Amino acid sequence: MPAPRYDLHCHSTASDGTLSPSAVVRRAATRGVDVLALTDHDETAGLAEAAAEARRTGVRFVPGIELSVTWSHQTIHVVGLGIDPENPGLLAGTARLRAFRDWRAGEIAARLAKHGIDGALEGARRHSKGAILSRTHFAHFLVETGHAKDVRQVFRRFLVHGKPGHVAGEWASLEEGVGWITGAGGLAVIAHPARYRLSATRLRQLLGAFRELGGIGLEVVSGSHSPDDNLRMALLARRFDLLASAGSDFHGPENPWYELGRLPELPPGCRPVWQSVAWQQATGALPAERAS
Ligand code: AMP
Ligand code: MN
Ligand code: MN
Ligand code: MN
Repeated sequence: MPAPRYDLHCHSTASDGTLSPSAVVRRAATRGVDVLALTDHDETAGLAEAAAEARRTGVRFVPGIELSVTWSHQTIHVVGLGIDPENPGLLAGTARLRAFRDWRAGEIAARLAKHGIDGALEGARRHSKGAILSRTHFAHFLVETGHAKDVRQVFRRFLVHGKPGHVAGEWASLEEGVGWITGAGGLAVIAHPARYRLSATRLRQLLGAFRELGGIGLEVVSGSHSPDDNLRMALLARRFDLLASAGSDFHGPENPWYELGRLPELPPGCRPVWQSVAWQQATGALPAERAS
């Protein structure tokens, strides 16, 4: 029997993805994913629908989240795997992050208006089908209104540091983010670690701090990593004794290079998060049940 295929990072319309939670699960099933985690940004609202669809399609489902945290003036994403979506501490934390998003959305719109682009808040809202407003929704509005040719160009021109629609601010602290995930019974994993604009030294500091706070994993293989990134992150995972995770960061079929279930194997020497005791505990020992 071939080894199960894992994809432990993706998005639905509950955050900034373009497929509904059940459509994400169906697509994963079609693409040969055996174990799927849905990890919407700062939001658990899609998990019940995804879990129900997973039962129908035979995909093993892991409830997840991707939390936005600020560490050393940088936005870092922490994935939580095997969380209890009803955990009060996690719900309060994500509600706070969504309130920050709402405030930030108003600020982004105000700055874009000063720059001559009106109606951005309403425009972004039209592109959001869930409860959160993401920069991705602004990007869809700005592409639609002809201010850029695609989402990448919108980010470069408008939404990153130093550009007219950029708004700085504080998400949760790293300690809070890891605490909300572990408090909800989940495993905390640093998402797409090769993507941050951190020096090698700062990245090592981040991983050290993360480990101290109870973080357990590193997303060694990501749809947004190059093959070389995957190898470098595998070495870092070993060095910091972190378990290795893998996720596409799929947001929708419009972006074919982050596709569900199309991930390379973990590099040799990694300890896969799904082969750990912590995983068995966080996911209710699902794999063990199926083996018996
Ligand atoms: P937010 O959490 O609202 O600040 O938005 C971050 C999201 O925007 C990420 O999760 C990505 O989906 C998307 N994103 C960030 N940077 C880029 C980029 N350069 N090009 C395209 N999408 C991006
Ligand atoms: Mn996103
Ligand atoms: Mn991310
Ligand atoms: Mn993501």
